Amino acid sequence: MSDKYDVIVIGAGPGGYVAAIRAAQLGMKVACVEKYTGKDGKQALGGTCLNVGCIPSKALLDSSWKFHEAQEGFDIHGIETKGLSIDVKKMIERKDKIVKQFTGGVTALFKANGVTSIEGHGKLLAGKKVEVTDADGKTTVYQAENVILASGSRPIEIPPAPLTDDIIVDSTGALEFTSVPKKLGVIGAGIIGMELGSVWRRLGAEVVVFEALDKFMVAADDQIAKEALKTFTKQGLQIRLGARVTGTEIKRKQVTVSFTDAEGEQQLTFDKLIVAVGRRAYTENLLAADTGVDMDERGVIFVDDYCTTSVPGVYAVGDVVRGTMLAHKASEEGVMVAERIAGHKTAMNYDLVPAVVYTHPEIAWVGKNEQQLKAEGVEVNVGVFPFAANGRAVAANETGGMVKVIADAKTDRVLGVHVIGPSAAELVQQGAIGMEFGTSAEDLGMMVFSHPTGSEALHEAALAVNGHAIHVANRKKR
Ligand code: FAD
Ligand code: AMP
Repeated sequence: MSDKYDVIVIGAGPGGYVAAIRAAQLGMKVACVEKYTGKDGKQALGGTCLNVGCIPSKALLDSSWKFHEAQEGFDIHGIETKGLSIDVKKMIERKDKIVKQFTGGVTALFKANGVTSIEGHGKLLAGKKVEVTDADGKTTVYQAENVILASGSRPIEIPPAPLTDDIIVDSTGALEFTSVPKKLGVIGAGIIGMELGSVWRRLGAEVVVFEALDKFMVAADDQIAKEALKTFTKQGLQIRLGARVTGTEIKRKQVTVSFTDAEGEQQLTFDKLIVAVGRRAYTENLLAADTGVDMDERGVIFVDDYCTTSVPGVYAVGDVVRGTMLAHKASEEGVMVAERIAGHKTAMNYDLVPAVVYTHPEIAWVGKNEQQLKAEGVEVNVGVFPFAANGRAVAANETGGMVKVIADAKTDRVLGVHVIGPSAAELVQQGAIGMEFGTSAEDLGMMVFSHPTGSEALHEAALAVNGHAIHVANRKKR
């Protein structure tokens, strides 16, 4: 038996590394076990988010947007561009450099906070012991007072589209293309599918997205989802709803996708195919048989609202537990658990976890949408303000989309903020701050917003809830 720790965290993604740092800040002796190695073969902290998720995908979204703007958006400003080209290798190298900067940043934060980083595969044994197996197969067992399981998730693979080295890939492979595919298929029109499809579409790929459901973006507000579908279709993304992929065949470096939709069985051929059908909790070889930690049949670890598992002193956070698979949800759970171990009464507000789709325009929301509230029988007032009437958006030639604020008809309390348009993620965060403090639409309407800003669209949408918008005709007069 080796060293004893107050807290051992398994997994150094945003759930795990944030929990480790916060626990160390609170005076505990902390170790974090991570097995992931980066492109240089060395341990890389930061999990899916920093290595193959949020950060690298945003790096490519930003690069590809700049290319797209230079190609199609500059002309209106009187800026001429000739002979534009994209060096995909350089774009990927830039992405890799950003990843390295951030994963190295977590290593530095561990050092600064006194967190011990242990390399290898961690497995929980009974009695809050953690067995770590290193790359050479050597095992060491550590004793902990508390264990935080933060092993994250993995992309789901589906039998009709088994991954290959370079033609049928998951989201990780889609961040590594060495050239722009002429024809790209994407299975799944979820957030990851739409973001990665957008990257390669902007760089010139012909993109078809297959979505088994008949409805686009089921989690979004219907009005916003409708606008999004219209906008993406205009951008040239061919989104086939009600299209279930049933098989694939690879021939001469191309993949033929078989799918069924309302018109029956069909086939389309692509140079690359991205499988983006969701993620599953990653609990392979994480728990010895006698730990007593309960999971469901899909490997999702059961926890309560405070991320406590069925075993006292063992917690689980992030993608490996229930709820949305988002980095900010994982990291806030990490903070909550570390603080509760230290005896604080920290709780997390699961009702206000914002969601963002980093396409262009961005789509973001917090709280409930109109169809959810209707289904619950809640009477609401809705205020909508289009970016076409927002000065800053028009100046920037970013006039698509809208801000939608939904408030309780009886109390005026804001229950949801939904945005499609420029800086949607930042606007929704402003709504979330207000909602955390129980803001009413009237409160938001009474605040002073800088002019000219995109934020004024949030101000006007809040005013529109009660028929007081100034820069758009009100649906409801008061
Ligand atoms: P992870 O980040 O998956 O980290 C778990 C870590 O545990 C991994 O490093 C793994 O190697 C390690 N591990 C697992 N088992 C063991 C073991 N037994 N021993 C040792 N180590 C182990 N979310 C957002 O909020 N915003 C976004 O913009 C966004 N974009 C995304 C884009 C893509 C392409 C993808 C794939 C995901 C994206 N996500 C985004 C989701 C986000 O990355 C995850 O929700 C988040 O990383 C979950 O954090 P986590 O700590 O629970 O797990
Ligand atoms: P998300 O889980 O949000 O990333 O979205 C994944 C999407 O993939 C869901 O909307 C699923 O309906 C869709 N999906 C799953 N399997 C298939 C399939 N075989 N063909 C087409 N779409 C699929």
